[in-house]
Amino acid sequence: MQDCIFCKIAQGQIPSNKVYEDEAVLAFHDISPQAEKHVLVIPKEHYTDLDAAERGMDAGALAHLFQTAARVARGLGLHQSGYRLASNCGPHACQTVPHLHLHILGGSQLSGRMG
Ligand code: 5GP
Ligand code: ZN
Repeated sequence: MQDCIFCKIAQGQIPSNKVYEDEAVLAFHDISPQAEKHVLVIPKEHYTDLDAAERGMDAGALAHLFQTAARVARGLGLHQSGYRLASNCGPHACQTVPHLHLHILGGSQLSGRMG
C-alpha cells in the first residue's frame, strides 16, 4: 500500500533492524523501544489492523504471524522470564501505524498495567 511505512519496511524501501524474515512476515526492532527488548512482527501484506485481518486474511497466514511472534520471542530468550504480546487496534488503543503489527515486549520486568 502506498504511503504505508510498514509496507515500505516490508519491501525494503525503508531500512529496519531485522530479527526474522520469510516470504510472508517480517520481525524488526521497534525504532523507539518501550521495553528492554521491543520487536514488531508484521505481515508483509497490508492489513490495517487485527480487525481487518480477521475479515480478510487467510487464517493460516494469521496463525503464522502469531507463531512467528512466539518463535522470535523464544529466539531472543524472552520465553524464560516472560514477555508481553500486544496489538493496538484503532484510536482507543492509540494505534499510530495503520498496518497490523504485533509488539513483543520483554527483557526486564514490565508494568502490571495493561491500559
Ligand atoms: P502502534 O502505536 O501503532 O501500536 O505501534 C507503532 C510502533 O511502530 C511504535 O512503537 C513505533 O515506535 C514504531 N515505529 C514507527 N515508525 C517506525 C519505523 O520507521 N521503524 C521502526 N523500526 N519502528 C517504527
Ligand atoms: Zn502497510
